Amino acid sequence: MKHQLRRFLVILLLSGLALHGLTSAQEQSDSLFAVHVVQRGENLFRIALQYNLFAEQVAAANGITDSNSIVVGQRLIIPLVTAGLDQRLSHVVAAGETLASIAAAYSKSEAELISLNNLASADAIYIGQELIIVAGAAEPEVTPIEFQPTATSESSGPLPVTPPSPGGGAGHSFSRGGTMVDTFVHTVRSGDTLFEIGLRYGLTVETLVSANNLLDPGLLNVGQKLIIPGIQLPRLAHDLPAVVATFTIDPLVLETGRSTRIELLTKEPVSLSGQFLGQELRVITRDEGKRHNILLGIPMFTDKAVYPLTLELRASGDSSETIAANLQVIGGGYGYQTITINDSELLAPAVEENEIALLIEHASNFTAERNWNNSLSLPAAAAMNAVFGTLRSYNGSDYDRYHRGVDFAGAPGTSVLAAAAGRVTLVDRLHIRGNTTVIDHGWGVFTLYAHQQDTLVQPGDLVTSGQVIGTIGSTGRSTGPHLHWELWLNGVNVDPMQWVQEIFP
Ligand SMILES: [Zn+2]
Repeated sequence: MKHQLRRFLVILLLSGLALHGLTSAQEQSDSLFAVHVVQRGENLFRIALQYNLFAEQVAAANGITDSNSIVVGQRLIIPLVTAGLDQRLSHVVAAGETLASIAAAYSKSEAELISLNNLASADAIYIGQELIIVAGAAEPEVTPIEFQPTATSESSGPLPVTPPSPGGGAGHSFSRGGTMVDTFVHTVRSGDTLFEIGLRYGLTVETLVSANNLLDPGLLNVGQKLIIPGIQLPRLAHDLPAVVATFTIDPLVLETGRSTRIELLTKEPVSLSGQFLGQELRVITRDEGKRHNILLGIPMFTDKAVYPLTLELRASGDSSETIAANLQVIGGGYGYQTITINDSELLAPAVEENEIALLIEHASNFTAERNWNNSLSLPAAAAMNAVFGTLRSYNGSDYDRYHRGVDFAGAPGTSVLAAAAGRVTLVDRLHIRGNTTVIDHGWGVFTLYAHQQDTLVQPGDLVTSGQVIGTIGSTGRSTGPHLHWELWLNGVNVDPMQWVQEIFP
């Protein structure tokens, strides 16, 4: 079992190494290690100190004979011997871990961790949570979080939760409480600047430039991977059925109105089913029953709380095994907007509800074939002038409605483009959305294009990514020409820009 744990972490670290372009010689190492990028003002002694090592140990791991020969930007292998790890204060719960497995990994008892973290029980941990392992001066604040047995629309309002920052990083969780390593990667989103990314992680622009050997700090590309130095990489303590090879959830902390991917690789073919937020999950199984993907959209008004995720694995003829984990849902950080309109313009709620019900039903269909294999492209060559998720109050009502898409301001007649390949499933004139086209991209993913002047495709048409499917207009409930663009995932309306900036699954 211990050997297996080590393999998991090595695989995780190696995927980081591949990204940073290290050589294959280092990939052959069979021990636990992290990578440290040398910063300005650092020397071998200070670096070693950060990891509770001796300078000689770091020198030996890197074949360094002259300890003065290290240079800024150099990547050093940091051997993570047990003595070093034991000094750590906290652990971020990863997919597949239980309190028992985490306790065992640090030679602690479950009771100790329950007491240190004020947990109600051993089951009361959630993925992405930062657990105190060794109490210390820098111990993170423990915030009580409400647990929800299942999601119900009747549950009481939003709860006072201080979420861990989900960041924009992909693949790894991180913790601010740690002192460790620098293989955390931030994927650049549209609009990101080095200054803002630095602010988010408490780093200077110079640190980011140096850690990533950036030649032109003003030039960032969407999707570019940046090393974020000083972010703790979680130590994994999986406790999964033996048939499971890997189990990943990305991002680890779920946001309302956004999407998460779950992937389970198994050593043998299994059939997988699961439940989350009181719903049966849609599982996409490939590779002869060994690769299982779930695309999860979190409904906008889901209460901010911790919810159980249950996955059942069934091998042919065998009894089933279960993976249980807790996932935290936090708010998406959306803005607020008050809108005042004439009574005559104020539509009866039933009109809006009927249109939403139609779209939910439509977008709950499922096509097994996937028609995209990259991030989605933008649906118009026009400036975005309204983001997804802004909570709206009409004439003093509650903030119980929100902007369900992204707006692009374009002159009337500007081309509307398919964001990915797919099959047109709806072309209709709707009361609120006006001339509307919906494209089914497969795997439960639909995009919607509203307020068009003209529609140029018919239901049943196959379209390619970037194909002109209509023109920008101001039909339906619209105050001026613009394209309103939505994305629906398994009948849940989510932020489409996440799908432009990231690759799913
Ligand atoms: Zn809009």
